[in-house]
Amino acid sequence: MTTEQYCDILNFTASGGKPDITQIEVLLSPPDAECEQKLFDTALKLKREIFGNLVNLRGLIEFSNICSCDCLYCGIRKSNPKVKRYQMSDEEILHSAKLASDFGYGAVVLQSGERSDRHFTGRVTQLLNKIAELPSPPAVTLSCGEQSLEVYKEWVAAGAKRYLLRIESATEEIFRRIHPESTTFANRKAALLRIREAGFQTGTGVMIGLPGQTLHHLARDIEFFRDMDIDMIGMGPFLPQSDTPMGDAPDDEQTVARRFSWSLRMIAVTRLVLKDVNIASTTALQTIDPENGRERGLLAGANVIMPNVGDISYRRDYQLYNGKPALDENGREIREKLLESLRKIGEVPRWDASGDPPHFARRTNS
Ligand code: SAM
Repeated sequence: MTTEQYCDILNFTASGGKPDITQIEVLLSPPDAECEQKLFDTALKLKREIFGNLVNLRGLIEFSNICSCDCLYCGIRKSNPKVKRYQMSDEEILHSAKLASDFGYGAVVLQSGERSDRHFTGRVTQLLNKIAELPSPPAVTLSCGEQSLEVYKEWVAAGAKRYLLRIESATEEIFRRIHPESTTFANRKAALLRIREAGFQTGTGVMIGLPGQTLHHLARDIEFFRDMDIDMIGMGPFLPQSDTPMGDAPDDEQTVARRFSWSLRMIAVTRLVLKDVNIASTTALQTIDPENGRERGLLAGANVIMPNVGDISYRRDYQLYNGKPALDENGREIREKLLESLRKIGEVPRWDASGDPPHFARRTNS
């Protein structure tokens, strides 16, 4: 692939062309550093045409690490005996939601391990009702795993707007390799369809740099996002967690650098292909590059950041992977650092806004 051929496909996509899977794979494989930078710059330009230099902020509340799943990569999988299990109290969760709103974030993400028992799902409904009663309630994204259509509908009726459920990999063979038999690709995809049917702004995403995963697989992931008409994307590098079955996956400098640069390319190409969706620059990027990771995600075309607003005392017990950043920083310190780093790259927080992806309005009006 010559620079010229690469630029042709990049320009074709940036000017509204619909790349096929082979062209998406080419976009993910820039032939040199100059083309890679051109990819990031083109994606950033498109992001700024759609959203300006604004970044949507969502306060992240990791409200429980109790999980009924046993995903082979995940630090809070049910058979990790080293995890001290917790649930934040209603008061603590409401305090964090209020803090996010006081910080001007305009939105929160309530994330937890997966549970489908009625005690848990009913509690989430009650929490949503209480959040809706706050003086300036933040918009709520939920990320609590696979649930029935009734439960998803109940949560929409209680005020939740968005739902994040990663497909993890749109290639079934990879999905199967990283999950126990009880977690199937078909169920995961069906849950995503239920999330959309319930009326949520629908978010998904993948892990990048899984063992055996190639740029072809990642191109299929982007095609999956497009085929599923997804509104929001949250994806990032796979990072081994030492207490899991995938904890001994390669983690040398070269592998980590590749996961990082593939993650940035995935953000950029997803922006160019999906255009008006929300794309998060995730904590996993910050884990690899604590100083500039999330900022580089924004400069590759992302438009959402999810600063933690949960209580510090639980942070260590929600370690999905090794090296989670900001373990000892409270919400205010995290906010200050974030504002400083946004300033450095010329991006500005979009204060007090729900920050809906234009794609959702377009999808639901058509
Ligand atoms: N239970 C919910 C669910 O399954 O969607 C939300 C919590 S789950 C822990 C959130 C996400 O963390 C997963 O979808 C997965 O992509 C990510 N994650 C877990 N372990 C990871 C790892 N070792 N490296 C990178 N991301 C990881």
